[in-house]
Amino acid sequence: MSSPGFGIYLHWPFCRSKCPYCDFNSHVRERVDHGRWRAALLRELEHYAAEAKGRTVTSIFFGGGTPSLMEPETVAALIARVRELFPVAGDLEITLEANPTSAEIGKFRAFRAAGINRVSLGVQSLVADDLKFLGRQHDGPQALAAVQMAAATFERFSFDLIYARPGQSLDQWRAELDRALEFAAGHISLYQLTIEPGTQFEQAVARGDFRVLDEERAAELYEATVMRLGKAGLADYEISNFAKPGQESRHNLTYWRYGDYLGIGPGAHGRLTRGADKFATRQHRAPEAWLDLVERDDHATRQRDPVSRAERLSELLMMGLRLKEGVALARIEDESALPFAQALDPSRLQRLIDGNFLTLSGNRLTATQQGRQRLDAVLAALVA
Ligand code: SF4
Repeated sequence: MSSPGFGIYLHWPFCRSKCPYCDFNSHVRERVDHGRWRAALLRELEHYAAEAKGRTVTSIFFGGGTPSLMEPETVAALIARVRELFPVAGDLEITLEANPTSAEIGKFRAFRAAGINRVSLGVQSLVADDLKFLGRQHDGPQALAAVQMAAATFERFSFDLIYARPGQSLDQWRAELDRALEFAAGHISLYQLTIEPGTQFEQAVARGDFRVLDEERAAELYEATVMRLGKAGLADYEISNFAKPGQESRHNLTYWRYGDYLGIGPGAHGRLTRGADKFATRQHRAPEAWLDLVERDDHATRQRDPVSRAERLSELLMMGLRLKEGVALARIEDESALPFAQALDPSRLQRLIDGNFLTLSGNRLTATQQGRQRLDAVLAALVA
């Protein structure tokens, strides 16, 4: 089995504006004191390094918010400090999420010089009206220019699109996907539009401003997506992520394979195994409170909770069954500390296998395509 790896996630909580569908920990501020933020991120990283001494880092991920709004000096300082504090893998993957506006594209070379070797671009759509609907600050040509610039600057890149937008037909989506594939290289993420609590879109749907696509149409779009991407040689290695062999996001694979990762910055989550125990960490969400706490205490940990064996099993399945490769039975035994036959109820499991939602073969438990599309229900039926 491939090793889950050990990742470091760094959260930059600021954006130019708030997108109406977004429920991430992102905030709009007129002014950001970059020097203060740089020092605080370094400080919290150093604090957590003591908890994970000697672990070999396989990936670093700058997420947000919009981390392409960071100063490249901050990115460079954080990468250099990770290299000082930890042994790192020879093929260390260092990803930065970026928005395709011209100001951010202009910083690509500086980010590469800072050590970034993979960029993930939030393109979201190539259709002008839909970009407006999604509240984005770029247009289609700008997005494609950013993709080309990313291809020319970084070793690897990916970009995201959001589909199942209101009124989107199968033919419209196929045409957009074909256009996107002309520009894709090894990796692309395709997310179905979902309406999250607390977002502007939630209020808009409640007001009746628009309706989300019904489940059947969304499933049709998903199936067409998997088929089209497969034809282009990009396998659906995870529900929303498609890659050529070897081009998968190593950092995200660490989450999905239920490996350990440090979460640094406002609202960041982490998982740390120490001996037989595992801890879930969460940092303070509000940017200013996080900053003050780090300056006072060296960290802004809000929660540091032991994860029970039952929770470890649920989390492992919740993450791992998203992957086409599924979950090794040995990992189920490791995380639950039980033999497989006791970790999962055999009759529940058999019902899901008979219903063509799960398969059990080659020492792995895997969700079928229909199982992956209904993963929440499958998990609820599998573990009480
Ligand atoms: S740019 Fe990204 S993180 Fe920021 S508000 Fe939009 S979707 Fe959320």
